Amino acid sequence: LPVIAIVGRPNVGKSTLFNRLVGKKLALVDDMPGVTRDRREGDAHLFGLDFRVIDTAGYEEDDAATLPGRMRQQTERAVADADAALFLFDARVGLTPLDEEIARWLRGTDRPVVLVGNKAEGRAGEAGLYESFSLGLGEPIAISAEHGEGMADLFGVLQPHIEAAESENPDDEAEEDENGPLKLAIVGRPNAGKSTLINAMLGDDRLITGPEAGITRDSISVPWEWRGRPVELIDTAGMRKRAKVQDKLEKLSVADGLRAVDFAEVVVMMLDATKGLEAQDLRIADRVIEEGRALVMAINKWDVAQDRKELFEGIRVALDEGLAQIRGVPLIAISAMTKKGIDELMETAFATREAWSRRVTTGELNRWFRAAIEKNPPPAPKGRRIKLRYVTQARTRPPSFVLFGTRVDQLPQSYERYLLNGIRRDLGFGGVPVRLTMRAPK
Ligand code: GDP
Repeated sequence: LPVIAIVGRPNVGKSTLFNRLVGKKLALVDDMPGVTRDRREGDAHLFGLDFRVIDTAGYEEDDAATLPGRMRQQTERAVADADAALFLFDARVGLTPLDEEIARWLRGTDRPVVLVGNKAEGRAGEAGLYESFSLGLGEPIAISAEHGEGMADLFGVLQPHIEAAESENPDDEAEEDENGPLKLAIVGRPNAGKSTLINAMLGDDRLITGPEAGITRDSISVPWEWRGRPVELIDTAGMRKRAKVQDKLEKLSVADGLRAVDFAEVVVMMLDATKGLEAQDLRIADRVIEEGRALVMAINKWDVAQDRKELFEGIRVALDEGLAQIRGVPLIAISAMTKKGIDELMETAFATREAWSRRVTTGELNRWFRAAIEKNPPPAPKGRRIKLRYVTQARTRPPSFVLFGTRVDQLPQSYERYLLNGIRRDLGFGGVPVRLTMRAPK
């Protein structure tokens, strides 16, 4: 997807705009001091435009001496990764020296910049908007991220850049991402061992945050490397806990852990070997599958597990029954404490991402499909046969298929499951969520 970086000084409304574009309440937007954020990313939709949006750091203002330097780094990194920069300023406040400085950095990049005045509901921002012509970044548009005003204008200025980026990378979908860092989130009930695992991965000397020692309130990612392969650990409650965050943030941690799922490619769900599989675990897993993320289950605390063979088999069976949509989900026994099983876990996470990103050719798919419907023909409700014509893979990540035929709306669920299970089993999609939709040809 084309990438747009939202840049601007603190408090101009970057997170509010990010939330509006991504369409979920992912960020907390408040003015709590002591909070440092790294970048956040999300998939944005704007009147049918799809793109990826990066929200750059919102640093505290009270550390004015070092702020510009840190902001500059963040901004330049984000803009370098983006196809265009969306420079947001506060139209009510008008330009500040920091705005002018950011504009100077942006004029020096080779990326296109769109200039956007925020908080311009009503006529409040007019003076600020006029003033912003002086930045030398072209004509500003006026929006109110909070009230959703000006979104059509925003569409208008972003569309050309997004389309230009798309035509440069016509099929960047899977290929590029597959070589990129593995975006990994770790979820699970409290005390399953998430923090311990993250510590084991990062090593105790690795600090999650910078020397400012603020801590994230949003999903951030921490770079890691496993056997020379880049990994981005997406923020979880565990990270937050480790950094001794303020009370108010701590209370948000359960929902936050799940929020990390939105940013992940692969989700490791941790089970506690001393507790077994509980209903809540299945609910969390369900949510991950619903979001279409690839899932790897880890049974932690294996070092102290009793009756290991029975335990493992019991959980295996319970998972296949409880999560029929992803029968065969990978299951790895680990000990975060003794660091056993982490390599196998990571190996599996990478392999799972590959399956999740896999595209089968239409030829291969339909050879399989013809054999499958020959072996077990679709039923004929009321004597009229459902005619299934062909299947295509519409998307990857997660793999999504479209089945064409007549009267497909009458296809029983059991037959759908038969096809889905076959796709998963025979075409290399084991354990990843696979989607199938039906369509009657026009
Ligand atoms: P979180 O809430 O999921 O982040 O869980 P923590 O990482 O804080 O771990 C909860 C408790 O389980 C702590 O007392 C850990 O020391 C313990 N723990 C975590 N992993 C293991 C493990 O692999 N083996 C054993 N025996 N204990 C573990």
